[in-house]
Amino acid sequence: MSTIQGWAVAQAGKALERQTFDVGARAKGLSVGQRVGIGWTAGSCMHCRPCLSGEQNLCGELVATIGGHHGGFADTVRAHWAWPVLLPEGIDLASAGPLLCGGITVLKPFLEYDIPPTARVGVVGIGGLGHMAVKFAAAWGCEVTAFTSTAAKADESRGFGAHHVVASRDAEAINAIAGTLDLLLVTVNVPMDWNALLGTLAPKGRMHVVGAVLEPIPIPAFALIGKQRQVSGSPTGSPVDIARMLAFAARHDIRPQMEMFPMSQVNEALKHLDDGKARYRIVLEAGR
Ligand SMILES: [Zn+2]
Repeated sequence: MSTIQGWAVAQAGKALERQTFDVGARAKGLSVGQRVGIGWTAGSCMHCRPCLSGEQNLCGELVATIGGHHGGFADTVRAHWAWPVLLPEGIDLASAGPLLCGGITVLKPFLEYDIPPTARVGVVGIGGLGHMAVKFAAAWGCEVTAFTSTAAKADESRGFGAHHVVASRDAEAINAIAGTLDLLLVTVNVPMDWNALLGTLAPKGRMHVVGAVLEPIPIPAFALIGKQRQVSGSPTGSPVDIARMLAFAARHDIRPQMEMFPMSQVNEALKHLDDGKARYRIVLEAGR
């Protein structure tokens, strides 16, 4: 594998620091001194059908940046040359971390399914992923409904660009918007009233899951059949998707809402995260 070492950027639990650059002899399109970032993925096989189709994020041999490595806690990061993506001007390094993982995760369905700016989009869960989803959907031009169980997040959601806010544990409030949403982006990792949420979908509407819900999601057949609804999911995006996401974020000045912690206070940062207090992404600064 050809290598580049450099800006280790990422989200909660990952480092952020300028390191020594080194570009491998066979690396293409990179040179020492460029600002680049990698997200969840640091490499893929580059010869399977998904890789050759430009869908490298679906490769069966993905190399995760953090899984099995020190990842963002490491002093340096190594990646296949195809995966580091140039950071456009206007993308600061701290913002790049959350954008490269959560940002592409929530924007990917808009790219994948050609979601038009006239779409009505719901975002379930206003957290690390969800708050970015609201920002991207609003910048995309969509009418955005935020679903949150935390009353204090209602005004914040509007600040992120949501046009409407619905209490996600209030079946009556959810039922009141039945049949209206073209895309419902699920960013939570906890069980919900899935039947009520599916009911918010308009004919041909899609519920798309990007949150790591560990319990099975029950899907009644007739919730899909009658109105030809769809349910889907996706992981992050390809290097080209990531480049498109960064360009869009730079143009619309989409920045994650972050809390910065020096690496020397990593344990405090993780406790802050465990306590559910992160608003909304924590970025660790290496070397401090
Ligand atoms: Zn592959």
